[in-house]
Amino acid sequence: MSTILFWFRNDLRLHDQPALQAALQRAQGNGTPRLLPVFCLPREEEQAAPWGFTRVGQHRRAFLAATLQDLGDRLAALGCPLLVCRSTPEQSLPVLARAIGAEAVVCEEIAAPEEEAQVAALQQAAGLRVQAIWQSSLLDPAALPWPTAGLPGVFTTFRQVLERVGIAPVAPLPAPTPLPPPPDVPAEVLQAVGAGQGGAVDADADASSPGGQDPRSSFPYGTPACRGGEGAGLAHWAQYLERKLPHSYKATRNGLTGVDFSSKLSPWLATGALSPRRVLADLKAFERQHGANEGSCWLWFELLWRDYFRLLHLQHGAQLYRARGLSEAPLAAPHARDFERWRHGATGEPLVDAAMRELAATGYLSNRLRQVAASYLIHDLQGDWRAGAAWFEAQLVDYDVYSNQGNWLYIAGRGTDPRGGRRFDPAKQAREHDPDGCYRRRWGTA
Ligand code: FAD
Repeated sequence: MSTILFWFRNDLRLHDQPALQAALQRAQGNGTPRLLPVFCLPREEEQAAPWGFTRVGQHRRAFLAATLQDLGDRLAALGCPLLVCRSTPEQSLPVLARAIGAEAVVCEEIAAPEEEAQVAALQQAAGLRVQAIWQSSLLDPAALPWPTAGLPGVFTTFRQVLERVGIAPVAPLPAPTPLPPPPDVPAEVLQAVGAGQGGAVDADADASSPGGQDPRSSFPYGTPACRGGEGAGLAHWAQYLERKLPHSYKATRNGLTGVDFSSKLSPWLATGALSPRRVLADLKAFERQHGANEGSCWLWFELLWRDYFRLLHLQHGAQLYRARGLSEAPLAAPHARDFERWRHGATGEPLVDAAMRELAATGYLSNRLRQVAASYLIHDLQGDWRAGAAWFEAQLVDYDVYSNQGNWLYIAGRGTDPRGGRRFDPAKQAREHDPDGCYRRRWGTA
């Protein structure tokens, strides 16, 4: 019998799942295949809080809980229910693997220090083989015209070369069906790893909390259209295409408020409920049917930014997590009080305060305001960019380790870009993007 433990990480879907397909192939190896799909959701008290606040705030938890519910339902329908362990992967996976006699743990590869340390710890656990498969980028790193170490330091160069060589991502895979049945897991093992199947996966995460339904929210994740999970993600993307919104994307993408000014793909992409290859394949089909224009091309450029930050992680690894990032410039001594004022939306700078209030109230913020808020902490308050990144990590429903770290480094001037950091003048940004003060009034700062 070949038993495989499939560890879901930030890839909470069944469509276009190369790692899951590899696990299935492995399980078919010899004898009767068995598959145990697992997700690890440590309790809050088991997670370190290095900056003095929770790592995963209420909005992210609620979106994740809905995502897991959707994935659990899909897996159960295929006869292979999801096991959610309320403990860390290092605690639970070796115990489970031993109990079911798993030949290997298969999962997606995540090229960030904490996530790599998890895999290393599992590999060290006696007799446990881990197969980690890279799958979160649109483009295959091996198909790029540069070796990873030679990636251009400037995004525009990266994009222009790719356009010139006409690179195309591989086609998305269909969802697997059927799945092998799960092995039996003894009740005492389930108890030891804090596992539960079906039902509410995180009873404390309430998708009907006011933040998820806030009428001011640009992404009301508590409503059916913005729920977490593959089903809602695919439906959202289908209606976005049906309404031909890619055509107007470039003209509207710098908006501050509303569900439609940008694609709102990020929460589903970040949890892996949507595959970027599926998104691009659909976008290309849309362009063939309705024509390509500046708007649809710009959406592809933005998806390339997402890839770019992933590739930078493959290139520079843990260096991106140093206080200095890739720069040698020293950090100023930050003031804790300024950071508290910033995160609570009480700096006295109306646009920044409105943005920080929106983030805390809803878990989403437009790209424009993420830039303005990050720039203000770094360049006006001389704050620690890592504390700002940690606050975004806690709040954003679309938190993505690569995009968050990459964008903060970029604005701080501590990434690869040789042109230094990016300072956004909040007063000028307010004049250009909120000329009538409507946004600031909505969040009580004007
Ligand atoms: P759209 O404008 O519709 O863009 C389409 C997709 O392109 C997005 O879903 C995203 O996958 C990608 N994309 C767009 N802009 C960027 C960008 N600058 N960097 C990387 N990918 C991009 N994005 C996250 O997904 N998770 C994060 O944790 C995150 N943290 C950020 C922190 C800061 C300080 C800044 C300035 C930006 C951050 N972004 C992050 C990038 C960007 O703000 C969001 O991806 C975008 O606002 C999400 O909304 P959307 O899906 O409607 O974007």
